[in-house]
Amino acid sequence: MKNPSTVYHPLLFLAALLACACSTTQGDRTGKTELLKWKDGKRAAISLTYDDGSINQFRVALPLMEEQGFPGTFFINTGQIPGSEFQARFIGRAVEEIIAETAAVPTNPDNLFERASAVGFLGYPALVDSHTRAGAAVDAGNVERACQIIDEAYAKVRAGKVEKLREGAEYSGSEQITWEEIGEFALRGHEFACHTISHPRLAVLDEANMRWELEKCREDILNRLGPVHTFSCECPYGTENERVMEVALEIFPALRNRMPEAYLDELNRGSRREPGRSDKTYVQWQRGALSETPMEVMNSWIDTCLAHDNLWLVLVYHGVDGVGWEAIPGDTLDQFFKTIKSNDGNLWVATFQDVTKYMRERMHSEAVVTRERDQIHVRLSHSLDPGLYQMPLSMRTAIPDRWESCQVTQDGTPVDYETGYDQEGKFITYQAVPNGEPVIIAPVRD
Ligand SMILES: [Zn+2]
Repeated sequence: MKNPSTVYHPLLFLAALLACACSTTQGDRTGKTELLKWKDGKRAAISLTYDDGSINQFRVALPLMEEQGFPGTFFINTGQIPGSEFQARFIGRAVEEIIAETAAVPTNPDNLFERASAVGFLGYPALVDSHTRAGAAVDAGNVERACQIIDEAYAKVRAGKVEKLREGAEYSGSEQITWEEIGEFALRGHEFACHTISHPRLAVLDEANMRWELEKCREDILNRLGPVHTFSCECPYGTENERVMEVALEIFPALRNRMPEAYLDELNRGSRREPGRSDKTYVQWQRGALSETPMEVMNSWIDTCLAHDNLWLVLVYHGVDGVGWEAIPGDTLDQFFKTIKSNDGNLWVATFQDVTKYMRERMHSEAVVTRERDQIHVRLSHSLDPGLYQMPLSMRTAIPDRWESCQVTQDGTPVDYETGYDQEGKFITYQAVPNGEPVIIAPVRD
């Protein structure tokens, strides 16, 4: 007979109360199930994320992470990787037409995005900087300044005052990682994610050009690495521009720039708020370790994580060991990763994607517990897209103290579990796959 534990008959309830009052019997706590905040009941989550794909992220940082068994998340610019199908370009009218128009019509909020989208593609490499500066102005809310910068750039073009791209000249950069190597890293558990084709200031692009940078970066990653690596994205320069967020959230399930969930507090790299003061269920706490960040500061991030139970520390790295912006020495990384590892029992190190999925699933799941004879059945289900969200959740279920040991199965497969005690009695922790068969917990008799 099915006997849902969530339904109480008044007399049974009384019986349970009497049992609790008069003896050490645990009454109806058996089956009480909790979805743990973090995997394996750890105290905090950490994601190690890298931007821009500079070479020592792979030559130095990645092997150091692998020594500790840590997966990383790499936000890459696909335009730099040899063999990528899509390159940055301007989507729109003939640029000659735009240049001619700038002579008659000053740049204003109506034509700014088209002009700023095109300015890097007029054949003058020096003007890429005008795009970047105008974008920074828009990100800072200063559209007027952006118009001014763009006007100056086009005036120089009309006056023939900028140097043309030399014949045969190409993007000069240091060694780039290849798709073949990236494919191997992905197979070893690292996450790759979109950081656009060419690292533009998306806030100053018009929608067609913004979409090109995001969608075609995604497409190259999809074709090379498969759909798993199209989950996360970071729009360059940490922008939180509303137009950009709207478009990017349509294309990617998760942005490091911003997450819309109400239960999550986001403290970005520039935030000085104390993460422990948030009253939200989860806090995503981003910190950027730069070349001069002292080890004591990095260690204090770990202490803060351990002092609470709801923090997700998202570390943002750029340059590593002399290559890239604000390069952090390899020795510093090594030492810091070892500190994280020494707190292995309390810190869950996982990709940006995996932590996002865990958190979302937990917040949208319910566990329905039923008693069938002497067994406990726990059915875990969530309301999210099952094609995207299949991560097992860590659960804790109370079992009777008298059970010496038990057998836990889901869909006929044995599930590992650990036994523990709290003030109320005995429990087990285990992992359950959502939206599948119920987990069956049965006593083992000698
Ligand atoms: Zn970047």
